[in-house]
Parts: sequence; C-alpha cells; structure tokens
Amino acid sequence: MGRPLNLFATLDQAAARFGDRGAVYLGQRRLYTWDQLRDRALRLAGSLRAAHATGTRIAVAAENRPELVELFYAVWAAECVLVPINFKLHPREMVQILTDSGAATVFASPKIAPHLAPIAPAPVDIIGGPDYETRFAATPAPVPVTDPAALAWLFYTSGTTGRSKGAMLSHRNLTAMTLAHLADIDSADENCSLLHGAPMSHGSGLYIAPYVLRGARQVLPVSGAFEPAEFLDLCAHHPGSSAFLAPTMIHRLVETGRGRPANLRSIVYGGGPMYVESLKKALAAFGSVFAQIYGQGESPMTITGLRRADHDSHDDAVLGSVGHARSGVEVAVRGTDGASAPAGEVGEIVCRGDVVMSGYWNNPRATADTLRDGWLHTGDLGSFDDRGYLTLRDRSKDVVISGGSNIYPREVEEALLEHPGVAEAAVVGAPDAEWGEVVVAFIVGCADERALDAHLLERIARFKRPKRYVVVEELPKNSYGKVLKRELRERLVQPLT
Ligand code: AMP
Repeated sequence: MGRPLNLFATLDQAAARFGDRGAVYLGQRRLYTWDQLRDRALRLAGSLRAAHATGTRIAVAAENRPELVELFYAVWAAECVLVPINFKLHPREMVQILTDSGAATVFASPKIAPHLAPIAPAPVDIIGGPDYETRFAATPAPVPVTDPAALAWLFYTSGTTGRSKGAMLSHRNLTAMTLAHLADIDSADENCSLLHGAPMSHGSGLYIAPYVLRGARQVLPVSGAFEPAEFLDLCAHHPGSSAFLAPTMIHRLVETGRGRPANLRSIVYGGGPMYVESLKKALAAFGSVFAQIYGQGESPMTITGLRRADHDSHDDAVLGSVGHARSGVEVAVRGTDGASAPAGEVGEIVCRGDVVMSGYWNNPRATADTLRDGWLHTGDLGSFDDRGYLTLRDRSKDVVISGGSNIYPREVEEALLEHPGVAEAAVVGAPDAEWGEVVVAFIVGCADERALDAHLLERIARFKRPKRYVVVEELPKNSYGKVLKRELRERLVQPLT
C-alpha cells in the first residue's frame, strides 16, 4: 500500500488543534467539543471493530442528526465502509441498497427504524437508542492506519436515469475532494460553521471532511431537515456560516423574502441546474456569497466549480456555466469520434484525477461502460468556451433530437423561466412519427401558450420551441429534489388529454 491515509485524520488533527472548542451543535446548543467528538468516534469504532472485519459495509439511514458526524468518523476509524442512505427513500428502496451493498448493520433513526426493521436484511441499530448508547462503553479503537485505496464510502447515485448504483469512493478519493474544496471553493477555518441543510447522505455529508479538518463547527438543524426560516436563523447565530444546498433550496430561501443573515459566509450549490434567472434573484437577495460545484457521485463534488468572484461578473454566459476545472482534476469534452472537442462544440464531459471513483460496487459492466481509457465518462453533455468555462447542456439521455437537430432542454427551460408566469419548467422529448421527437414543456405556473410562444421566439430558434405545453401542479422530483424527466417522458407515451 502507499502511505497510509484515512479520513479519520481530519478529525484527529482538529482535536489536536482545537480540542476544547465546540465541534457539534444541535441548533444553537453545543453538544460536543472536538476532544469529545474524537473520543466518541473512537469508542463507537471500538464497538464496530469488535464485531466487524475491515471493509465491512455499515449503512446509515437517518434525517440530518448530530450523531451522524460521530457515526461517519467511527465507521472510518473502524476501517469499515460507510453506506449512507437518503432518509427520504421508501423503506423498500432502502432494502435494495442494503442488499446490494451487503451491509452488516444499519444505523437508523427512531423515525425510520420501525418501518425498516421488519424488512431489513441486516440488524437495525436505533440511533440514540439504548443499544447505541452502550457502544460508548467500548474500548476506543486505535487510530487507523489504512491503505488509501481502501473504500470509505459507497455512494448510491440518485438514479434519475435508472437503478441506483454504488460508486466506490476511497479514502484517497475523498481526501482529494477535501483538498480541492478548501483550495477552490471555501477555505474555512475554526471561526466558521458548516450548516447541514441538505441531506448528509449526499453533498452535505461529503463536506464534513473539509470543514472538520479546519475545525469549523458542525451545525445540525433541530428540524432534521431544511426549513428556510430555521436555516436563516442558524446562519445568523453561528460564526462564518457555510452550507451546501441544492438549487431548489436556494429558491426557497429567496421566497422567504428575508435578506442576507448576519454571519452568512458562503452557500455552495450544485447537484442540479441553477437557472440564470434564479441565480440573479438569489444574488439580489443575499449578495455575493455563492459558489457552484459540478460533480457527481462518481467524482464527488469535484469536476468543475464557479467561484464566488465569477458570480460578480454580470455575464450571463459565466453565470450559466459551471465554471472551470477543479484543482487536481483534468476535464475534457469529447466529440462523437472520441477526440477532444474544440471550444464551442458540445460533447460528452469526461474527467480524471484522484477524486474519481474506482468503479461501481459489484457491477463490472457499468464500471467498464463508465471508466474507459482512464477517464470517467460522466454522461453529461457540455462545451468549453475559449476562456475555459464549461457550460453543461444536459445529461445525454435527456437531449431531444427533433428532425435530426439536437435540442438541449436546459436552454429552452432557461428561456421559459424568464417569463414571469413560469415558476418551474422541465422540457423533454416526446416520440413523434414525423420528427422522431418533439419538444414538450411541463410548466408550473400560469401562462398562455401563445404568449409563451411569442416570448420564446424572441429568445431561441424557432425549431426549439415546444410543440406542446403541459401545465402541472408540481414537477415529479426524486428525494434530492432532482426533476425526474424519465417520469415525464413516461407520461407522454400515453396520449395527452
Ligand atoms: P449525483 O451523482 O446524484 O450527484 O448526480 C450527478 C449529476 O447531477 C451530474 O452528472 C449532473 O447531471 C447533475 N449536476 C451536478 N452538478 C450540477 C450542476 N452544478 N449543474 C447542473 N447539473 C449538475
């Protein structure tokens, strides 16, 4: 093995430097110092080591709770593999992940445990319950000495285009993510705080490592979820508040009508498209606090990034982009012939670097499809401009091909959202005998079709206009808030009434 490396080192360093400062907070209340957090994690790790061999998968299914911080570090210190499960999934979907990963134990919150326990293929340990608490009587595990290539996190992708797959992320991958975050996005310190608004099974949980390394507080909302008013109050209370949020969450913050809270330092967003109109509203409400990341479970949080300074540019092409390649990551756009596409040309986005996963768990076929010639094939389409800004078009599966022309739904959605009557928009292709596919726009809001057509004619080419508009109460979204285009397409296979 190379030089040993374990993410536990981030907590070990924070405890050595900031021992008796506050580490974990529930709302405004301080729960543990760094020394206490380290001790709890090592004891919990001791209890895991007593029962499980190195490399055993340990799942966690819970809303955002303070115990998740000690649990993540305990699993790493025990040299086991963390399998975080989104708490919004149906228990049956959770069972699929438990079965696929072969998890030996699942730590579930008191809310989830009663639904999961009767069908779970592994024992359920209730977080905060009596069995959980007795684990802290165990002898602390030794500080781990781990092969950097050992798995730290099995990241189940959100499965918007198919069944969820487990991206295998090693200690090296997540250390690369940690360093790139501190270098490119947010160089936090001990006077900062990380507020966990988004699910910790995904982006917010991944960001634990960089903020812990710098001794920044870990703040858990009492609601266990994202409540805009609570979130803004916590931002005002804690020093130097940062958070990772999905674009839809930022939209909800803007809707509160409240301005920038004292102490808000940065909001990092990503995971789904941030439309230029929404971003402008957010910048007007909260000022220059935003940074964007583009990543995927297979290259966690780290492919490209749009810096805070880029958000001051007043250039729509920059605001609509996902920024530049991140530190330690090489990013390229490949044309259909597999060669690098020149600036301005759309192709598949590929990347490589220490952050990229080693493959999908128990799925060599999907691994071979995705990791080719040493590059991660993201399945996203995009183009670089001559300044190196990458603009994401869509996932290749979402592109509409109508009459032989490629139409990128995102472009049509951006244009629709500039209309005051449109609150949300999702554009998909519907099968059509004459054109192959035609553009259909699902819209939340109220606007007359003719007015929308006129509006679009001023903004985009005629052939990109939707042939049909469907007004809906809400768009179908997965548990991370991503629009399920697959479901919209399925609706269109049935004739519209
Ligand atoms: P997941 O693996 O669940 O995090 O999903 C990753 C996918 O989300 C990417 O492949 C993109 O299609 C999309 N995505 C991630 N970040 C962004 C972003 N900043 N803008 C638009 N789409 C994004």
